[in-house]
Amino acid sequence: MSNEGVIEQSTAGLMQLVAAGEELIGYIYPHTPLELFMAHGLIPSLIRTLPQVPSGFEASLQTFACSYIRNLYSQRTSNQMPPLTGILFPSNTCDSLQNLGDIWRVRFPEDRVFRLTYPVTRNIIDDSTQRYLAEELRLLSESLTTIFERPFLKESYNRGISLVREFREGAKFLYSARVVNPKIISYSDVAQLVRVFLTTPTAAAASAITEAANSVKKMVTDLGIFENVESVMTALVNRDFENVQLPENLDAPRVVVAGGMIEPQALGTLIKDIPDIPESVITLDLLSFGFKSVFTPPLDESEDPFMEMAKSLLAAPGEPTQEGLKHRMIFLKDLLTNLSIHGLLICEQSFCDPDQFEAPSIERAASEVGIKTTRIPIDPELSDKARIEVRIQSFLETLTER
Ligand code: SF4
Repeated sequence: MSNEGVIEQSTAGLMQLVAAGEELIGYIYPHTPLELFMAHGLIPSLIRTLPQVPSGFEASLQTFACSYIRNLYSQRTSNQMPPLTGILFPSNTCDSLQNLGDIWRVRFPEDRVFRLTYPVTRNIIDDSTQRYLAEELRLLSESLTTIFERPFLKESYNRGISLVREFREGAKFLYSARVVNPKIISYSDVAQLVRVFLTTPTAAAASAITEAANSVKKMVTDLGIFENVESVMTALVNRDFENVQLPENLDAPRVVVAGGMIEPQALGTLIKDIPDIPESVITLDLLSFGFKSVFTPPLDESEDPFMEMAKSLLAAPGEPTQEGLKHRMIFLKDLLTNLSIHGLLICEQSFCDPDQFEAPSIERAASEVGIKTTRIPIDPELSDKARIEVRIQSFLETLTER
């Protein structure tokens, strides 16, 4: 299915939910506590960029606003957003998001805007960072209770935990199976399943992922590579590649895509459209709405909900907006070396400062382990599609020659 097709499917799913009386809370930042909204009987829906919305100059935004933010803002000013009951902005992440949240409140006073402030630091000495975020989550929960008159219900929270866990378990298996055999299921199909769940996190969307994972489990069992897939999944979950076992004679080239808030589905469509390039060259993405959302640790329903949610969000694979560059680069080098990767595509959201700050370190880390890289700036409208395709194509050709 094309990127536009998936967007239409997601939009239709959202409209059905609203028609059935559900209330949607839009969110933008990948590390959002989905289970918290579900505990209050609300549906968290990831607001996505729309390629057909022109996101050119918008006088209300600061000049540093990235192309992602511009697209979202243009959707709102042209009334192309889904019918949201409220919208959550993150605080303390990047200037673009901070600016968008501030301007949104002023420009659209009729919208219910919520804020969640994230700690930047990775405090590994004690649990003060976790306690800080837990308190922020508790305050957000109190606001939801007051404003919507919907209290936090433990039963709904537990249901939310099961739903999100089902999604992540299935998606983790699909990601890991693709590392062992990228032809087992296409990258676009996995990206589509993940996208649909993050936009409309319903039982049907989680079941679709479970079904796909079950069918892939059968295929990998028949191929005799089930244990290889399990070893990769354990390595990606624990970020320890010591016991990874990959089969011999892997197809080449094998490419990893690094980056932040680039839309995985758009990337899949882009690669699919390049002539003579099999989509299976993409072995794994490390993107915010792909790998980082999927490999966020699950919650334990028997523990304090706010501390659990904080712990899970803080233990998710890190973003360029957070402290921990050194740890991210160590993980990247381990991953590239132990998963037999040949090339790294560094996709940067156009005008995204965090992506641009991190990219040189990624290039250096990859070069230290002998992996070729190329940097590709991408905007949500793929306004430079032809040039991007040529760059990716020539990069893949250099890998094939090697
Ligand atoms: S793409 Fe970059 S600048 Fe834009 S919102 Fe995301 S992290 Fe911030």
